[in-house]
Amino acid sequence: MKILVANLGSTSFKYRLFDMSDERVLARGSVERIGSPESKCFVQVGGQREESTVIAKDHAVAVRLCLQQLTDKKCLATPKELAAIGFKAVHAKGITGVQRVNETVLQAMEAYNDVAPAHNPPYVTAMRLLAKEVPEIPLVAAFETGFHETIPPANKYYAIPREWADKHGIKRWGFHGASHRYIAERATQLIGNPDAKIISCHLGGSSSLCAIKAGKSQANSLGFSPQTGLPHNNRVGDFDVFALPAIMRATGKTLPEILDDLANRSGLDGLSGKSNDLRDVELAALTGDANAKLAIDVLVASVRHYLGAYLVLLGGADSIVFTGGIGENSATMRQAICRDLDWLGVSLSVHKNDVAKGEARIDAANSRVQLWIMPTNEELIVARQTRDCIAACV
Ligand code: ADP
Repeated sequence: MKILVANLGSTSFKYRLFDMSDERVLARGSVERIGSPESKCFVQVGGQREESTVIAKDHAVAVRLCLQQLTDKKCLATPKELAAIGFKAVHAKGITGVQRVNETVLQAMEAYNDVAPAHNPPYVTAMRLLAKEVPEIPLVAAFETGFHETIPPANKYYAIPREWADKHGIKRWGFHGASHRYIAERATQLIGNPDAKIISCHLGGSSSLCAIKAGKSQANSLGFSPQTGLPHNNRVGDFDVFALPAIMRATGKTLPEILDDLANRSGLDGLSGKSNDLRDVELAALTGDANAKLAIDVLVASVRHYLGAYLVLLGGADSIVFTGGIGENSATMRQAICRDLDWLGVSLSVHKNDVAKGEARIDAANSRVQLWIMPTNEELIVARQTRDCIAACV
């Protein structure tokens, strides 16, 4: 059984083709800079990687290109050979979990276009295109919110008029579900204790912490939307909504304009005034740029804030896991996050942290809490969920 997993960003389309008989990745590829005059495209089959420049004016063209590549490379006899296409979907009004894509699901996603503006519009476009072009291939949406259905009410409700939550779904839904689910499963397996308490730190373009007990999400730093919690690459993170009228008066901007600033020109980018990429910000901080240093300090402080909260929530932790582009690659961030926590039983080995590559344990010999770096595998989780969904629907 072959399943294609699609991961869409506002200007990117990444995919992996799985053979589910042994969960092997047959091919992977991406189209980047969709919408610009020249889009970059790559496809990798086995060790062979091919790069090219294409014109992909929208996600629909990118998806068509991907199916063409996979048939050209003989990974698929025809697109119809696909048992299903699974999407790492983000958010839909009133819908979570794993769903066969139909008009109800699409409309529920469209209803939250402004809640997840970087993700929902391109997903809906691609799903509608595929439903039209290859109607015989089942499309499955595995929502990022699904893993967080186990969050207890105390961690799920905002202190707002109760009917906003119950009638309109204004709650902490939580996101990054595929990544935190992967970490929950993998860390529980490595620790060898099904009841393990784990704090998963997914730090990347989007960042969130998740408190996990016995494989189940207990809290996530992302809330009603994927804009909140920790500061992200260009999105604000936690923010006091009562600042909004003050900003409107001071800048003369409208609410949609300010929301656009908070969703696109804030986070690391907004604070550093340099870049939305931590590598650039770290480099600038090293050369003495005060704004870059502040941006890093704010991100570290925010991670430590949630780390402290989740250690209390879980009553300690068996393991703290770092994943995502920043969590997996930035030794300085991991060291800063774990600084001076020995009194809590959290001791990082500076040497192990500096030399770690791939999945690795980085705690010092005296640490009570295991510290891990784990490359996440969101696509594998979505492939499994897609397989199970279509099996359940037969
Ligand atoms: P996304 O959340 O968009 O999936 P990733 O998890 O791939 O993103 O994380 C991408 C981010 O990871 C980059 O924007 C960059 O900030 C950070 N990153 C990647 N490699 C490094 C590195 N070697 N050092 C520091 N940060 C890195």
